[in-house]
Amino acid sequence: MEIDTEATKAEPESPPSGNGAGTAAPETFDVHNPADGSVVETLTIDPPERVREVVARVRAAQPEWEAMGIAGRYEWLGKLRDWLIDNGESVADVMRSETGKVRGDAALEAPYLADLINFYGQNGPRFLADENPSAHLPLYRVRKLTISYRPYPVVGVISPWNFPLMLSLGDAVPALMAGAAVVLKPSEFTPLSLMEVVRAWKEEIGGPDVLDVVNGVGETGSALVDEVDFIQFTGSDRTGRMVMKRAADTLTPVSLELGGKDPMIVLADADLERATNAATWGAMANSGQICMSIERLYVEEPIYDEFVAKLTEKVEKLRQGTDGKDYEADVGAMATPAQVEIVSDHVEDARKAGARILTGGKRPDRPGQWYEPTVIADADHSMKAMTDETFGPTIPVMKVRDADEAVRLANDSRYGLSASVFSGDDERAEEIARRIDCGAVNINDVLSNYQQLHLPMGGWKSSGIGFRHGAYGIRKFVRSESITQPRVRPLASELQWFPYSNRKRSVIRGVYRFFNARGLRDRLGLGRRGR
Ligand code: NAD
Repeated sequence: MEIDTEATKAEPESPPSGNGAGTAAPETFDVHNPADGSVVETLTIDPPERVREVVARVRAAQPEWEAMGIAGRYEWLGKLRDWLIDNGESVADVMRSETGKVRGDAALEAPYLADLINFYGQNGPRFLADENPSAHLPLYRVRKLTISYRPYPVVGVISPWNFPLMLSLGDAVPALMAGAAVVLKPSEFTPLSLMEVVRAWKEEIGGPDVLDVVNGVGETGSALVDEVDFIQFTGSDRTGRMVMKRAADTLTPVSLELGGKDPMIVLADADLERATNAATWGAMANSGQICMSIERLYVEEPIYDEFVAKLTEKVEKLRQGTDGKDYEADVGAMATPAQVEIVSDHVEDARKAGARILTGGKRPDRPGQWYEPTVIADADHSMKAMTDETFGPTIPVMKVRDADEAVRLANDSRYGLSASVFSGDDERAEEIARRIDCGAVNINDVLSNYQQLHLPMGGWKSSGIGFRHGAYGIRKFVRSESITQPRVRPLASELQWFPYSNRKRSVIRGVYRFFNARGLRDRLGLGRRGR
């Protein structure tokens, strides 16, 4: 993204984002194609006043959306699902132009969203159904108890550049299904594909006015935090902390999906063919720009050399580039210039500290933002490549004595998003999985938990607060409302109401004793046995 610096004004709360954006609030910004550096489109930055207008507009439309009920909302979102199924390829092309993704990576997003719409359309009624628990004491059973779930009227979704649709609409879908209106603030690097879907919602589908987009960086994002009733943020933990601090001013609840440094543990009895294939895809898909990418490997000593040789062979075979109409490349460009700098810094830091760079290890000689798929052998925790989020096409591998050492090192991280364990012994793999401190573990697999929509997906430690998917993924967008109601026509007054009296007090005391004491003697006030 390139900012038009002609029209800037100071914005101290904005963090540097990408290539320097965020320190000012200019009027326009350029969206670049990372694969060749060309400008794809120039967009206007939405100032806080415009954010307020958009939020006010969708807020006005939200009560009707909520009143429609989940079945009515699923009908509308079903039209969006159909549109995504029909137009997934063309949206993927828009996305490729703003991210530099290969076709195979860009093509993942629309199908995920179609699946998600059906998941919440079918399971949402159950996840949000009224509940009628019976009172915990028989004494209270004269009342009907109801828990009803009501949406936050307007949800703001702030998203990153690595999956422009999955990480924005992926939260908008359950929020809309819950009855909220949604305002999206995409990454300034990749707003185009999301804008295209929202355009279709408005112009082609004719959807209710409960979904819109605002564009910009820190100032726009902060304004959104100020205006909405719930903030769903996905991005770096640095910005996540700023969002949470800002939200504290208005007591706005937040859900934060942040960074990761996901470990993969490979035990000596693992299937090496599958483990090396999985590590290659898990680390290199989307050029390593996935929050749950395999970012560090711990391999048991007896198989270390063979594993590293096989892995290097596979990574060397990856085709890096831009594909045309067919799936001709495996690894694409990197979305932001800052990301290429971080990857390069981590590789050079590892090289200096004594790691072996077995393949890759440099920027290829071509225009745009690229870094070669890289294997870093003999890595250790003195290197940034093993401790800091790299978010690029690198696989640092470390030799470990045994599983205990691997678990200790896997947990030696400020992040806790997800992890993988490879072993030929299912029980042992599960026992190890349960010892890793993170939100999800894939056994003999990588990244697979994200497709399992019944499983909560979220991070521990600095990887976030809250979860997406499952019941929680929609319940976070609602507030519970508890309703009590007499089951039979009530008396004119209750025992605990005015006027207080010694007689009423003694009846209340006796009743509470009867229900809360243990043992018949104690319940009847005849004393406890053995005392
Ligand atoms: P980022 O934190 O730089 O930006 C994320 C979003 O926040 C962007 O839309 C940006 O414009 C906006 N923003 C910037 N300053 C803001 C402010 N002051 N107030 C409000 N919004 C502001 O992150 P990024 O570089 O776009 O994305 C990469 C990061 O996202 C990585 O750390 C990655 O691990 C993380 N991520 C996490 C998940 C997950 O589900 N846990 C998924 C994908 C990416």
